[in-house]
Amino acid sequence: MSINGKWKYEDLTWPEVNEAVKMKLIPVLPVGTMEQHGPHLPIKMDKWTATEIAKEACKKNPERLLFMPPVSYGFTTHVMDFPGSVTINYNTFIDYISDVLKSLTYHGFEKIIVINGHGSNMIPLELACRKINLESTANISLASWWGLTIVDKEFMHKWRESKFPGGCAHSGEAETSLALHLDEDLIQMDKAVNEVYGMNKHESDFEWVDLFGQGPVSMISWTSENSDTGIAGEPLLATKDKGKMLFDESVNNLIKWGQEFHKRKFNKRKDHHTSKAKSDMPG
Ligand SMILES: [Zn+2]
Repeated sequence: MSINGKWKYEDLTWPEVNEAVKMKLIPVLPVGTMEQHGPHLPIKMDKWTATEIAKEACKKNPERLLFMPPVSYGFTTHVMDFPGSVTINYNTFIDYISDVLKSLTYHGFEKIIVINGHGSNMIPLELACRKINLESTANISLASWWGLTIVDKEFMHKWRESKFPGGCAHSGEAETSLALHLDEDLIQMDKAVNEVYGMNKHESDFEWVDLFGQGPVSMISWTSENSDTGIAGEPLLATKDKGKMLFDESVNNLIKWGQEFHKRKFNKRKDHHTSKAKSDMPG
């Protein structure tokens, strides 16, 4: 049962928001950014993918999930050498996301899902979600759309042809396939090039990046130091069919997580101090 057939938070009235809380609906907040995605993909990519996947999951499961208006700007400083990227200082971003989440917990929502579309948002988003988990009685869970495609360990073997690691680092096989599935008319495949090495040009066993894994050493700096096109991957291996597979897998696993999250019982915090604290804790 949904609220009068609605699945979007922004369409509810305030009494319906109370109803949504009573029904224990889980708000799903898509977060992306505006970021260059090579010469063939639009800068809306990361907002677009997270939003469309969240929309589809909420539309299909309105008795459990509630679609939140997306956050369109994120932490994107490392690609500012490419026109079009918009970045939000990470402190501002953490505060902004925390305030959105805390507004929802204030109204009574106890479980919230954040679905991310932009790799560099992950660290500040983890901090924002953890902050609200510690400062409220609510539980916030965070996933990226691509992370939701590796629940079944075998799934990647069904679609991936590009080199691992590197073929799906940025604007590569996975993102370009998903974009072709979402709107192939918008994608300029004639401008796509494989720049496999991109951020992986040093071919190191220690430092490498891919959407589906990361080396033990991290050293993120300006994207323009290592990629001329803004691509780090193999977009020429992208197809619309692979994009549909990725989209469906991510949507279905978002729905499944929503069901598991809904059922999950959370234990109460226990403070094991024997003497009363004399000050607020740091952090
Ligand atoms: Zn992206």
